[in-house]
Amino acid sequence: MKKKKIIIILSIIILIVIIGILVFINFKKLKVNIENDVQIALNDKKYNTDYLKELKNGTVINNKELIDTSKIGTQKVKIIIKNFWGQKKDYFFQVNIYDDEKPQITFSKNLETEVGSEIDLLKDVTVKDNSNENIEVNIEGEYDFNKAGSYTLYYVAKDSSNNETKEEFTLTVTEKKNTTSNQNTSANNINNETTFTTSKGFNGVVKNGVTYIDGYLIVNKTYSLPSNYGSALTSQTTEAFAQMQAAALLEGIDLYISSGFRSYQRQNTLYNNYVARDGVNKADTFSARPGHSEHQSGLAFDVCSHNLDGKNACINSNFDNTPQAQWLAQNCYKYGFILRYPEGKTNETGYKYESWHFRYVGIDLATKLYNNGNWLTMEDYFGITSTY
Ligand SMILES: [Zn+2]
Repeated sequence: MKKKKIIIILSIIILIVIIGILVFINFKKLKVNIENDVQIALNDKKYNTDYLKELKNGTVINNKELIDTSKIGTQKVKIIIKNFWGQKKDYFFQVNIYDDEKPQITFSKNLETEVGSEIDLLKDVTVKDNSNENIEVNIEGEYDFNKAGSYTLYYVAKDSSNNETKEEFTLTVTEKKNTTSNQNTSANNINNETTFTTSKGFNGVVKNGVTYIDGYLIVNKTYSLPSNYGSALTSQTTEAFAQMQAAALLEGIDLYISSGFRSYQRQNTLYNNYVARDGVNKADTFSARPGHSEHQSGLAFDVCSHNLDGKNACINSNFDNTPQAQWLAQNCYKYGFILRYPEGKTNETGYKYESWHFRYVGIDLATKLYNNGNWLTMEDYFGITSTY
């Protein structure tokens, strides 16, 4: 009787222990839950564990392993997990890498050529995309190099995911310089140089795309420089400026060059930013189109003064009536500089009054244009226009 009782009690204890062990095993069971249908943008920095929704009773062995997102399409991702008992198991899931970024096109908003001179419209165009594909840029719109006019065209670039970028630009085909009546009364083509005579009888020559009148380089809205022209202020310009600067300082006038040489590319960026902000018409009154800025010639610069620092009088009309501006307007010619855009001469120069912009021409011409304080413009003096 007693023996039977002991067996029953022992059986109950064993049963309880077995149930306890089973409950414990179940309690420590590994539970892994990974997100379905994962979409990742191309080149995004994402880790394998970013998509682990739930993990119980285990640890990740390859924690924070970067997912290869460099190619569009499906990508297999692995997570290695160790359970409570130390056993390792690999979990795989698929993600989809997509691309919704448009290619970026770098280009000039304005291209110009003469009737009959074809130019490569894609020459300075570059395209960048997040995919490392070779993306072609196509031109949309109609144009004719043999017909003068302004053509609105588009650069179009599309990547393999059909993300498309379309950018507008203008191709201006101008009449041949030697047939425009205004400034050129006669023209000859000698050794790849075009010569002409201005309406005031000065001899002009276009050499490698650069126009000289009476030997003076001319850049304005009518006459442009090739995109590869120039690299810095010329030594004549900087030497003459140093002399002027020293002379001014003796009279208590501090001067420095605030903006000197500007490349075609830099001007292109500046101008396009102004156009985006103010529109073409307004931008054209104060900013030159690329190739038309005198800053690209290496002969022109904008002056400011340390004495005016903090007064917001640098390269803007606040500079106009300062002692520095007055001194420059009265004395710059002695060092070979001219006030390039005098007040009230917008219809000649094409620009508003710029009390801070000076151009090196040498003392001889500078003295003539100074005109005893009543500044003449290069356009008026030589008999040329400045219009786009
Ligand atoms: Zn300037």
